[in-house]
Amino acid sequence: MRYSKTLIPTLKETPAEAEVISHRLMLRAGFIRKLTAGVYSYLPLGLAAIRKVENIVREEMNRAGAQELLMPMVQPADLWVETGRYKKYGPELLRFHDRHNRESCLGPTHEEVITDIARKELHSYRDLPINLYQIQTKFRDEIRPRFGLMRGREFVMKDAYSFDVSDEAASLSYQKMYDAYKRIFTRCGLEFRAVQADSGSIGGSFSHEFMVLAKTGEDTIVICKNCEFAANMEKAAVVVAPKERVEPMAELEKIETPGKRKVEAVCEFLGIEASKLVKTMVFKADGVPVAVLVRGDRDVEEVKLKNLLGAADVELADDKEVFDATGVPTGYLGPVGIKIKVVADQEVASMENFYVGANEKNFHLKNVNLDRDCTIEAIGDLRQITTADPCPECGGQLATTEGIEVGHVFKLGTGYSESMNATFQDQHGKEKHFVMGCYGVGVTRVVAAAIEQNHDENGIIFPIPLAPFSVVVLNLGVNDKVITDAAEKLYGDLQKAGIEVLLDDRDERPGFKFKDADLLGIPFRVNVGKGFVKSGQVEVKNRKTGDVEEMTPESLVTVLKKRISSALSS
Ligand code: ATP
Ligand code: MG
Repeated sequence: MRYSKTLIPTLKETPAEAEVISHRLMLRAGFIRKLTAGVYSYLPLGLAAIRKVENIVREEMNRAGAQELLMPMVQPADLWVETGRYKKYGPELLRFHDRHNRESCLGPTHEEVITDIARKELHSYRDLPINLYQIQTKFRDEIRPRFGLMRGREFVMKDAYSFDVSDEAASLSYQKMYDAYKRIFTRCGLEFRAVQADSGSIGGSFSHEFMVLAKTGEDTIVICKNCEFAANMEKAAVVVAPKERVEPMAELEKIETPGKRKVEAVCEFLGIEASKLVKTMVFKADGVPVAVLVRGDRDVEEVKLKNLLGAADVELADDKEVFDATGVPTGYLGPVGIKIKVVADQEVASMENFYVGANEKNFHLKNVNLDRDCTIEAIGDLRQITTADPCPECGGQLATTEGIEVGHVFKLGTGYSESMNATFQDQHGKEKHFVMGCYGVGVTRVVAAAIEQNHDENGIIFPIPLAPFSVVVLNLGVNDKVITDAAEKLYGDLQKAGIEVLLDDRDERPGFKFKDADLLGIPFRVNVGKGFVKSGQVEVKNRKTGDVEEMTPESLVTVLKKRISSALSS
């Protein structure tokens, strides 16, 4: 394509609204423009990068035996009522009525629609296994759309759904997708890791997330330095060794702690370690207040809390909500005699003679023991793991790193097929529920994640497989016939060699063109300028390494063709 004829509205200034680098660079490089919160237009180069991801995903899904279809974005609410998700999915599901007052929603995911297709179209074990996928626009009314394509409200996802006769067969389908995902992200040229994950509102029993490793990732990944263990922090199980009681239970005492509300302040005032104190935090679980106990120096992991309580949503209560529920100001809450339901982190169960709030302003209690002094509804793993904890699988040392979730594979089991009564006939003529799996790739997020992982102060550094063009040829003498002819010829020859090339034919200064080329992140930049007139050679610069080489246009075509095809065949 010719730069002069292509819509590439690059910006010099960094747009103030963009907080993360991929968002800033995609705006500056003229890849995307915001229409409204979390909703973007994909301009030609942005779309080209998105299509690269789509093509890789499509090829690998087909290779794994999945079949492409396309489901509607508008879905009837009835299907969601059948699975119970009309309520459970919450405000992320955008709901509306049509002119006949029929309740509808915009698809954030398609388990309901695909299960409806399965129950109508798949009848026998002979129809199975089957895996159906689509690449389609999703809408989720995210509470905080941000970071451009990283967390949009409207975004492109590849979603696949597998149907099997048994759990065993479903495991095979899952493994196939897991392997396909590994190939997809390897082919995209990204550094990634597959990690154990929580299943979230999609439901099901078993899942892995594929994380692109990048400092700006919203997820924290826990990795073992000794074994293969890798998990999303929200999922990583804390293993607590059983402890024998050593101290005798001492008598409960009320002590004055005037104005001391925060853990640090209380500990400093009492001259104790935070590990001797138990924090009482009030969360709203689907709106109902619950007190959660964790050691003073620990953090509650909300996903674990949600799972223990079986809640769709948990949220920390604010001061007023805490007071309304307990009659106690925050900072002085404790489990002894509290009016609401209490759950405790497993670690608290092995603590002895510890400190808690006294449920009275300016007072704490000393020598509390859980089994003697408190009524606890449930005890479980409720806190965030730390790198001081042992690996839950081998006991080895843990490390953490940041990641961006670009893919998620789930074993769903029969949850959806049971609630929607989707069955097939097995070999013995018996009706059975499909055993399902579902598998998502955030196509638009992959492009953003690739940029988060690959950029420098001058702009994007695309991995070759995702770049909108592999090569940009800069005509550095648009008013010079020799230079222009050489640039035009090279442009044609590269195209003939099957290379995707952009010709910068604008009447602009070289420095201006260099800046744009760097910003766009095109892997190879070829300068055709005065040097060519002198030596017959052009200069090629590798965007990633910064290496510059000189060669004749003829050898350039051969060299680039080889480098590009080797990067594409990984
Ligand atoms: P997250 O935890 O980031 O909200 P999720 O668990 O809700 O993601 P899934 O339901 O598993 O996401 O969706 C499959 C994939 O779709 C995700 O792995 C992610 O790559 C992508 N995705 C999800 N939400 C968004 C979004 N708001 N914007 C862009 N991509 C998204
Ligand atoms: Mg989400």
